Amino acid sequence: MKVKINDCYYEGIQGETLLDLAKRNNIEIPSLCHKNGFEGQGRCRLCIVEVKEGKKTKVVSSCVYPIKDGLEVVTNSDKIIKMRKDIILLLLMKTPNNEYIKNLASEYGITAPSRYVDLNNNENCILCGLCVKACEKMGTSAISFVNRGTSKRVSTPYDDPSKDCIGCGACAEVCPTKAISLIDKDGIRTIWNKEFHLVECSVCGKYYTTKEAIEFIDSKLGEISDKHICETCKKKIISEKFKESFENYY
Ligand code: SF4
Repeated sequence: MKVKINDCYYEGIQGETLLDLAKRNNIEIPSLCHKNGFEGQGRCRLCIVEVKEGKKTKVVSSCVYPIKDGLEVVTNSDKIIKMRKDIILLLLMKTPNNEYIKNLASEYGITAPSRYVDLNNNENCILCGLCVKACEKMGTSAISFVNRGTSKRVSTPYDDPSKDCIGCGACAEVCPTKAISLIDKDGIRTIWNKEFHLVECSVCGKYYTTKEAIEFIDSKLGEISDKHICETCKKKIISEKFKESFENYY
């Protein structure tokens, strides 16, 4: 199936969204609430593009728009750039001191009018929902959106330490604006008002995850792992094994 993006034609794969197709072909479309391996959410609206189907043109969120044969797409028309700038301005007014959003705004040449901005506002969350998705994908769903309207935010139920939270830190890892407080100190991780004991990697000796996260994964796999190895060491071991078998083969 052929899709035209900004004057060039690209071969799409059944089931792809416009953003998937663009990313696969190194076409820049900004997005905040999209992460590889996650389904699109259409939440931040930064990935809007103009789509022409037949005689009709419309603005859609590319992360949730499925590709179709013959689709014509423009990712950077004046209209789209103007709309993106408006979205970024709103984000900047919500989180005026957040470094990530400030950098994004300066990339687009945006400054928020000072009379509308509270410079003492240290809000960092842009409500993109990635942390909630990551927690859901871990199979824990310890956090969710709470409240509505301007007081909407992400938290555990009643802001209490959640019995479901395993302290894995996936939420903090995916957060684009570093809005989630995760503190690792003296072998203790503090996140979402709860403390966890950190576990050391049996190879490099660095703390890398929590006891609860290991137990949770073991319970899902139905086995108890006696060796605790961090991702960096796992990768090193695999690449050394690969190198060894390659050398033996030749
Ligand atoms: S805490 Fe971060 S990941 Fe979660 S909704 Fe807010 S900005 Fe998005």
